[in-house]
Amino acid sequence: MSTPDRSIHAVHLPSDWTAASWRSRPALQLPQYPDAGELAGVLDELRLLPPLVTSWEILALKQQLAEAQEGKRFLLQGGDCAESFDACTSELISNRLKVLLQMSLVLVHGLRKPVIRVGRFAGQYAKPRSADSETLNGVTLPSYRGDMVNAPAFTPEARRPDPRRMIKAHARSAMTMNFVRALIDGGFADLHHPEYWNLSWVGHSPLAEEYRHMVQAIGDAVRFMETISGEEVHNLNRVDFYTSHEALLLPYEEALTRQVPRHWGWFNLSTHYPWIGMRTAAVDGAHAEYFRGIRNPIALKVGPSVTPDQLLRIIDLLNPEDEPGRLSFIHRMGAAHIADKLPPLLDAVRRDGRRVLWVCDPMHGNTEATANGYKTRRFNNIGSELEQAFDLHAAAGTRLGGVHLELTGEDVTECLGGARELTETDLERAYRSTVDPRLNYEQALEVAMLIVRKQAQ
Ligand code: PEP
Ligand code: MN
Repeated sequence: MSTPDRSIHAVHLPSDWTAASWRSRPALQLPQYPDAGELAGVLDELRLLPPLVTSWEILALKQQLAEAQEGKRFLLQGGDCAESFDACTSELISNRLKVLLQMSLVLVHGLRKPVIRVGRFAGQYAKPRSADSETLNGVTLPSYRGDMVNAPAFTPEARRPDPRRMIKAHARSAMTMNFVRALIDGGFADLHHPEYWNLSWVGHSPLAEEYRHMVQAIGDAVRFMETISGEEVHNLNRVDFYTSHEALLLPYEEALTRQVPRHWGWFNLSTHYPWIGMRTAAVDGAHAEYFRGIRNPIALKVGPSVTPDQLLRIIDLLNPEDEPGRLSFIHRMGAAHIADKLPPLLDAVRRDGRRVLWVCDPMHGNTEATANGYKTRRFNNIGSELEQAFDLHAAAGTRLGGVHLELTGEDVTECLGGARELTETDLERAYRSTVDPRLNYEQALEVAMLIVRKQAQ
């Protein structure tokens, strides 16, 4: 990973903050652990385990995000809605990496700027839920809150929050990270060999031809540069890859919040780029309190109920010194609401002269249920929200600097539409998500192409 730029200087540490000060604020979406002693023991153990990322990488990413704020880079952030312990396999991890690399290739080629690649993985194990409990046939049990907290089966044992799952989540995250780093260091992401990223089942994809053209054009450009310069093009052999997850389970995040010898302040070393979910984004809540004191670049999901005033208050709390690269807003309004809800927020932030990276999540505002009981999203709505986002930013004089997507490298049928026009009956064939519906490989690539087409207009 690249060397951090020293121009990102320390802003001062809030004097009344500690890694545990969130504990005095209202903390939403946290499980009730039945055994406080067991929980404390696990947290002591976690505090001694090695971190998953380093402060050097975190600061390098912050610098890149600062450049994205200026329009010099574009952020691609994607992965599963929720990782599961069972899905920590070489095939699932490498397929997801392949899709993200292919999408970034399409974006680099079409946008003519470097892409920051951030996975929603290696720690995306805790989920917010709309209710604390669930009742089935007269039996009430705690809701499933992600593999880091409990298990999905509807039994009292499975649903009991188990703190030891945090240790397992740490280990699974480390294995995922290790494999991704090893693949990338070994040349898997080499731009000279985009064929490494091909997924076998895509043979007859309606998008294959367009993708092959782009690969060809990039190959020609790389060879041309190397011919005229007489040496290999730098930085094309290795690609930076960063991780992110919703930092929801604060006891876990606190245990991985560390000071390091060479950089002042506190870092969340469980991930490079944590975000606050929409349900825990209150300015006086525990999550905002925790996030304000860490030095990572951070993001906040912004839903349709947020007012301009609330947004300015959260900027004051999370980025009082207007540090470049520090704060991203991921708006997730829904195709039907973005035109109403987004412009007042963009205007308020622009008028106040505040520095944020605007990112569009076209997934979470477009979730619906089908008649046959599946939670799904329509490709047309996802595309429409993204296209509107580009137009609304252009009209407001702000810039859309990235996308946040739920996707997988597998041939699932969870979202409707796309190049193969998946229908409600198709959902039955390969619906595998236990939480939100993801774009499959082809639909994900199609989103990348849509962004490029939109930007070329
Ligand atoms: C998510 O990203 O999976 C999620 C729950 O999103 P949001 O907080 O935007 O609803
Ligand atoms: Mn989700």
